Amino acid sequence: MTQNALGVEFERRLSETPKSAEERAAVLANPGFGDHFTDHTAVIDWKVDAEGNGGWQNARIEPYGPIAMDPAAAVLHYGQEIFEGLKAYRHADGTVWTFRPEANARRFNKSARRLALPELPAEVFIESLRQLVSADREWVPSGDGESLYLRPFMIATEAFLGVRPAREVSYRVIASPAGNYFGGELKPVSIWLSENYARAGHGGTGEAKCGGNYAASLAAQLEAEANGCKQVLFLDPTDDFAVEELGGMNIFFVFKDGTLVTPALNGNILHGVTRDSVLQLAADRGLTVEERKITIDEWRQAVADGTLAEVFACGTAAVITPIGELKTAQGSLVTPELGPDSVAMGIREQLLGIQTGAVEDLHGWLTQLA
Ligand SMILES: *Cc1c(COP(=O)(O)O)cnc(C)c1O
Repeated sequence: MTQNALGVEFERRLSETPKSAEERAAVLANPGFGDHFTDHTAVIDWKVDAEGNGGWQNARIEPYGPIAMDPAAAVLHYGQEIFEGLKAYRHADGTVWTFRPEANARRFNKSARRLALPELPAEVFIESLRQLVSADREWVPSGDGESLYLRPFMIATEAFLGVRPAREVSYRVIASPAGNYFGGELKPVSIWLSENYARAGHGGTGEAKCGGNYAASLAAQLEAEANGCKQVLFLDPTDDFAVEELGGMNIFFVFKDGTLVTPALNGNILHGVTRDSVLQLAADRGLTVEERKITIDEWRQAVADGTLAEVFACGTAAVITPIGELKTAQGSLVTPELGPDSVAMGIREQLLGIQTGAVEDLHGWLTQLA
């Protein structure tokens, strides 16, 4: 048993059949994204007792493997599920760090409240990452910009087909070595404007990080792929077609007058940790930062009158990705070519530099995991 400062004990049952050093080296030579998993998983169960009180129990590290679950488990029927995503980076001295995990812990609990799942104390959330990364430390890549992607999630495991919040829940963390999200060099991507589908509605689950939002975005994603795009842009059809976000990334606009604009958090938009960090770093650079409503018409106008300089998307997985073009059924909006000193690339380099330990962490964003 290992005990952390708060008394949450993680029992450690290590894999008897971990991948060999050769197998691991083969994965780390070409990690891709989300295709390979480490040898262990962190698990904590939650249950409502006979008095009706819910509590976390049996924190443990166990071998990675299939989850035995009753076919009537609520998550399989009603999608009571939330998740998070963050990365662990190996620094030059071999230590392993992650970026703003307390922000992910806070958001996880916000998502939990929306999906009627139990909250997990932030300290326990962070400790679970620490425990998993300590067990799977050899899996943290050391290549340029590479990381170990951490995926905490919570599922309703109670076997019950009635509709109510589950009384048995499981919190888990899995880890996956990650290379460059889009693969290869960083070219501006084309994105598809979804006019047939919205990803969120007012009062819905748009600002919760839940699997259901992603399930709902897949039909739009297929439409995007059929139109030669990798990502989808969603609008708010009830609010002048205001720009919201991509399926899994927030969006930013840079105007030639030095203003950086991102859609204001309106209840539909996910509170990206990268989004928040970009806003801070942009303000540090002296850009005028605006969180406000921006409509598709304003975007079209800014392209037409030449005031738009850059468009980019951001999120943990891909960090910052320039958007070269918005394709729509009526034609496309092309972003000017990125110059050598673009805001997108400058902030990307700075953010990655902080995360990998190459640039000073002036905001205290890093937490050591191992
Ligand atoms: C996770 C996510 C983001 C990005 O959030 P980060 O904390 O920056 O990774 C943006 N939009 C959606 C819908 C997401 O699920």
